[in-house]
This record gives sequence, C-alpha cells and structure tokens, in this order.
Amino acid sequence: MTTDEPSFHRPAYLPIALRLDGARTLVIGGGEVAANKTHLLLSNRASVTVVAPTLNTEMQNWADQNRIHVLPIHATPETLPPLLPETRLIFAATNDRATNRMVATLARAANIPVCVVDDPAPSTFITPALVNRDPIQIAISTGGAAPVLARRLRTQIESLVPETIGQLADFMQAHRPYMREKAPEALTRRRAWENFVDGPGAEAALAGENATARIALDSAIENASPEGEVWLVGAGPGDPDLLTLAALRLMQNCDSVLYDQLIPDTILERVRRDAERVFVGKRMSHHILPQGGINAEMIRRARNGERVLRLKGGDPFIFGRGGEEIEALTAAGIRTRVIPGITAASGCGAYAGIPLTHRDCAQSCLFVTGHARADGELDLPWNSIARKGQTVVFYMGLSSLPALCTQLQAHGLPPDWPAALIERGTQPTQNVITATLATLPDATKAATSPALLIVGEVVLRRQPRSQTHM
Ligand code: SAH
Repeated sequence: MTTDEPSFHRPAYLPIALRLDGARTLVIGGGEVAANKTHLLLSNRASVTVVAPTLNTEMQNWADQNRIHVLPIHATPETLPPLLPETRLIFAATNDRATNRMVATLARAANIPVCVVDDPAPSTFITPALVNRDPIQIAISTGGAAPVLARRLRTQIESLVPETIGQLADFMQAHRPYMREKAPEALTRRRAWENFVDGPGAEAALAGENATARIALDSAIENASPEGEVWLVGAGPGDPDLLTLAALRLMQNCDSVLYDQLIPDTILERVRRDAERVFVGKRMSHHILPQGGINAEMIRRARNGERVLRLKGGDPFIFGRGGEEIEALTAAGIRTRVIPGITAASGCGAYAGIPLTHRDCAQSCLFVTGHARADGELDLPWNSIARKGQTVVFYMGLSSLPALCTQLQAHGLPPDWPAALIERGTQPTQNVITATLATLPDATKAATSPALLIVGEVVLRRQPRSQTHM
C-alpha cells in the first residue's frame, strides 16, 4: 500500500436509505460491472450519466432508449472535474484500478459519495447485498469484511421473507389514513397494526385478498384495547438460541420489560428497542426491589395501559416466584399470560452432556431449592432426597453447597456418590466441575453464581462433548 492511499483499519458504515429520484449520478465505466451499478441507479429513479469511451450491449441499449446519458470519453483529471457540480453520487467501475482511484480522489475532494467497485479502501460508501420486495428492502452489509457471507445471508433471508410482502406493505400504507381516523391514539394504533400483522389479515394481504384483509383490519382495531397486561415469560438459562418463539414475539411487542440479573445482555438485546428497561434484580442479600415492590410496579404499569414483559431466567414457574406474581396480578384484576422457558436443569444438563434421568440409574429427578432459610438452616426432607436411583438437582445451592454435601452423606449417600456443579450453564463461559459428595466442596471453592448442582449417578454418564456451545 502506498502512502497516499487512504487506509482505515475497520471502517464504520452507517446504513441509510438514500432518496435519489432525478438526482444526477455518475457511473465511470461501460462494462458489465458498470452496467450493474447503472441498473441499480435506474431502478431507484436516479438520472445516470455514464462516462466511458465504449459501452457493452446492455449499456448501449439503455443509451439507445435514452434511459442514460453517455459521455463517450475517458475519465481523466481534466475531463472529470467539470462534471462534478450537481453530482450526488459516483460509482467508479472501470477495469483500471488507477483510473478508479483517481476518480475516488477527485470525488472525495468534492465531498461526493463515491464507491469504487471491489475496492473499499478509497470508497466512501459501499453497496450492501439487497433483498428487494418493493417497497420493502433489506440491505445486508458486512462492512466490506466478507461479501460472500453477505450474499449467503441474502439467500437465507430471501427464503424467509414472503415474495408478496411488498403487497402487505402497500396495503398497510394505503390504510394509514383510515387507521389514523379509527385509532387516533398512537399506542392503540401501534397495537392495532401489531394485531393485524400477527393475524389473518396479513395472510390475506399477502395473498392479495384485500377485502378480507380489510375486515381483519377492523377487528385488529377493535381488539387493540389500551388495557395493560403482564406477560410472565421464561427466557431460558442464558443461550438466546433457547428462547421460545412465543417469548421472542412478546419480547418484540412489549412496552416495558422488568428483568433481573439472570438475564444476559445477549437476550435483553432482543427486546424491542424502544421498550423501557427496568432492572429489578434480586441478589440474595442486596435486593434492588423487594418482591412486593416488583408486583406493585407491574400492576401500576399495566393499569397505565402498558404491556409489561416480566422476563425471568429459566422457567417462570420453577423457583421463579412466578406463582406469587400471578396471584398478586390476578388479585389486582390484571390480565396475565405465562410463557414457559427452558429451566436451568434442562439447559445445563443438555449443554454439560449430563442426562437428568437414565433407565439404568435414575428413574426420577427432583428439583430442590438449596436456598437456606434466614437463620442458615436447610429445612429439607432429607430422607426422600438422599436416595439412590434418582437425580437431585439443586437450584440456588452454591452458597450452601458444603452443607448440602454433608447432609446428603449424613442421610445415607456414600462419600463417593457422584455430583457436578455447572456454572453459567449454556452460556459461552459455561464451566462444569464433576466430583463426588466428599470432594465437591473443595473443588468448587472458586465457583460463582449462577450455578446448578446435579447429584446422582447420571453424572458418570456424562458425554462431555455431546453439546458444544453454538
Ligand atoms: N426460574 C429459573 C430458576 C431461578 S432460581 C429456572 O427455571 O431455571 C436461580 C437459580 O437457578 C440459580 O441460583 C442457579 O442455581 C440456577 N440457574 C439459573 N440459570 C442458570 C445457569 N445458566 N447456569 C447454572 N445455573 C443456573
């Protein structure tokens, strides 16, 4: 690389959708690559001037149809500058690298966005891979890092987005004035549109059945009551891939989200961006908001018309106090929904390669809380817990782990009975420690929360590489 070349380590690209209609744009070059860019500009209603001494047949065709202006000259430091005033955008697409770079230098000096095809360094913009479903466009950019990857993603997205999604967008656009009239309040209107998009009306519009879509739109408006609700949603043990489709949908539709410290950022990022985020994390000793306060906050928000997402680690009804929250909400007359999640035992078991039951050694599986009472006592039915032939999973057992191991042995399990601790299960930093009841306390001295304790012979059946983090 010579010194006059602009070199940016990792350029940042702001994706915007540029409105060009009628604006003058320049394409330097007359071959196939230039023709592709010309086509892109024409389909976005730009006025295109092509600077090239010769044209390929496609370009010649457009020239014959007067769809492009042609200057049959070489682009040089002399011929180019007079063209720059009034020019909004330039593609440098000749097969000569030095010419392209000369164009870029002049364009940059004149503050005109320029793209040198296949040469991101001197470019001030790049063109993303496109999924075009007019008026919907999905642009995919890897910031120039891996165009092949962008095209692969495009293929994947193309297969996901219905061919006729443009019809749906057109239908919605055409009904915006109607919607404004029927639902003057912004929140109600957003809900009505969401109901519509999630319901049969969208299917009808996709199929071009606009009369049916219109009827569905009316019922979407009727059902867009500004009445608040609370959705108690299980977020699973941490890996975002383990969210349910229902959880994702509600995460996208909520007005606010109340979450605690079990929810990692990678999951929180998937909540609708303009939903208000309220951290109500509970750690054992320093509560941010006591349970009563959380209930009151949910009730207050729902009465305000909000759709409140109460996002909980794992499953809301397994050691998640979901039962208590539902009781309080129902008593207050708030509409609620509960979406189950993958509980820590399932997630950790799968990702650590430890089955929770096994025909040979574990006919049942107990989920037990290891959370000691305020006075430090572990008040548990030890006789049914300290048994062979079953698996015992302790939630919230890290701080009382030595006491748990002692009690299990005191009530009849042998010191060499297998046990495992899984820290941050299903998350990128997951750590699995396998030991015995006698050795686990020492082996886990440095362990941190959240951590799950699995006790039983299933630990010996572990297939460590059966699950890699994806
Ligand atoms: N409702 C949750 C459990 C909440 S209690 C569920 O169904 O999973 C909190 C306890 O869950 C933690 O103390 C820990 O024992 C366990 N836990 C939750 N997520 C975990 C994870 N990713 N890895 C290990 N343990 C986890």
